[in-house]
Parts: sequence; structure tokens; C-alpha cells
Amino acid sequence: MNQLRLDPLSGRWVAVSTERFDRNAMFGACKPAPYDSGARCPFCPGNEEETPPALETYGAEGSWLVRVVPNRYPAFEGLAPFVVDHRGPVFTEAPASGIHEVLVFSPHHDLTWGSFDDHQCVLVMSAIRDRVEEHQSTPGLRYSQVIVNYGREAGASVEHPHGQLLGIPFVPRELVDEQGSFTRFAGGCLLCTATASEERAGYRTVEANEHTVTFAPYWSGTPYELLIVPRTHEAHLHRSGPEDLAGVGIAIRNALDTLRRLLGEVAYNVVFHAAPYRASAPYHWHVHVLPKLVTRAGFELGTGVYINVVAPERAADELRQAIADRQRATAHSPEGVAS
Ligand SMILES: [Zn+2]
Ligand SMILES: [Zn+2]
Ligand SMILES: [Zn+2]
Repeated sequence: MNQLRLDPLSGRWVAVSTERFDRNAMFGACKPAPYDSGARCPFCPGNEEETPPALETYGAEGSWLVRVVPNRYPAFEGLAPFVVDHRGPVFTEAPASGIHEVLVFSPHHDLTWGSFDDHQCVLVMSAIRDRVEEHQSTPGLRYSQVIVNYGREAGASVEHPHGQLLGIPFVPRELVDEQGSFTRFAGGCLLCTATASEERAGYRTVEANEHTVTFAPYWSGTPYELLIVPRTHEAHLHRSGPEDLAGVGIAIRNALDTLRRLLGEVAYNVVFHAAPYRASAPYHWHVHVLPKLVTRAGFELGTGVYINVVAPERAADELRQAIADRQRATAHSPEGVAS
């Protein structure tokens, strides 16, 4: 039966409508489009002069493991103050000042976050933390958005594993909505409550360990979407302890690896949400993992109501099965290593 579920973070309704679901028919054409393999990759070692000079590198001198560079085509640039100019009753503008950086996650062109070892996950998360720390000390900026786009369909123009960090001079609507939801939530912290409730229910939880909980939220608006929540209640990513940061980095790797094992190579977006730097309202930082399996159609665009054709209960069940299959394969392989 179809059902409406309320997303308590965004305040939007989601329609779970699974009757017409046929995975092969719906997701069959969702393999990421190939990149031009003849083109020179600007993020590979040896091609460093193709990007602006690095802002930061991690790893031994001369052989970086993570590299942060300014985006060559920044959406937000410069430190002009955020002054809103009303040019008539309906024309309002402001300078798009801020910082737009690219984080090259690895020197290895063919890896993805889903195939990093633990050490690389830790390095990437340390780099993200350091850059957000740097952004929040920059005058005029209010919020940092960390994103990973994987595959052309998800907006990635370069194949090499990388993410983007944008420091912007205002708090975007999505964050304002989530902050409002945390503030209105009566029973303590919204996400501490959600993780506890999901763990109690059990059947939407995909991975739970000492530091993080990964689950297919009850209110999932898109097939196989996952939410990764650090157990420590903390509003700001950049104030999170090293163990929690490492835990989230590894949980992202595990989530992406499991999605690939279940669904094959699919495009996805990873979206980090943390409180604006100077916010004191209740918040709990977290990461959305959003496989790009469906296209937003007219109803979604017109209403903001997502129709999800894969119930999160089923998604979590299949993902747990993929983890169990992998563990069995690891235990049975002679080298003790699964491919
Ligand atoms: Zn490359
Ligand atoms: Zn919390
Ligand atoms: Zn969020």
C-alpha cells in the first residue's frame, strides 16, 4: 500500500510507492556514463601544474596522498561583504563571495571513496575538518558545504576521486529548514532520537558500531538513500573528535562499497550537513548518501514531494545481505581477502 511519510529533517512529505517497482527496468540504464579516457587528468600526480597551486597537501613530501586546490571555475569567489542590493521590488542580488575548493582524495585515479583503505578515509576526513576550520575563521563566511559527486549523472566532470568544499556567506535554505526542525523537535535531539529509534527497530539499520550508525531512513525520499550519523552528539563537523571523524569516513567507505556490491557501478552524491559556524541552535552533524538511480520528474519538481519506489525496509534488507555475502566470501577465500 502506498504511504506518506514525513521527513523530520526537511519537513517535507515523501510518498513511498513500491507497486510498480522493477529494478531492471528502472535502474538498468543508470550506469555512469564513461569519461573521455584520452584526456589528461588534472588531478593525477605529475599533472599538478594543471590546477592552481595547492592550498594544502597531506602525505610525505613530494608524494601527496590528499591535495586541496582552489576550484578553477569557482561558483563562490572573493571576500566582498554580503550586502543585499534591492534593485526594485523583485530584483534582489548579492555578491557570490566565498571559497570554492577541490579536495583530491587520492593520487590513484581508479579508486573511489568506496575502495579507500581505513588510513585514506582518515586522511580525507582530517583534510575536510582542517578546511572547514579554515573557512570558519574567514571573515564574512557563515557555512561550509562539503559534497562528493560521483559519475557524470551526479554532476562530476572529472573521474579522479575528489570532493568539493564551498564556504559561503549565507546559511542556505536546506540548512535553515533542518535547523528549524531540530529546534521544534520536542524529544531531545532529533538525530540522537532517530538513531536510537532506528536501532531499536533494527530493520532499516545497515551498519552500527562504536562511532557511527548507518541506516536507510524511515522517510527515505530516494531508493537506497542512507544517513550516516556519528554517535557523539556534536553540531559542528570541525569540532568533532578524531575518532568520530575517522568513524564517519570509514562508514562512508562501507556504505559506498556495499551500494556498489548490490547495485553495481552507480552515480551518487554524498552531502555533509553540519551547523553553520556560529549557530548555537540544536543540531547534530551527519552525512546523506544519495545514489542517483531515478530522475526527479514533474510531480517532484512541482510539489517538492518525492516518490520513492524502493521502501527503505527493503533497501536496508538488501544492503545487509550484500554485507553478509561479502563477509562469507572473505571468510572462504584462501587469502582471506574478498575481491
Ligand atoms: Zn586522475
Ligand atoms: Zn544528537
Ligand atoms: Zn541533512
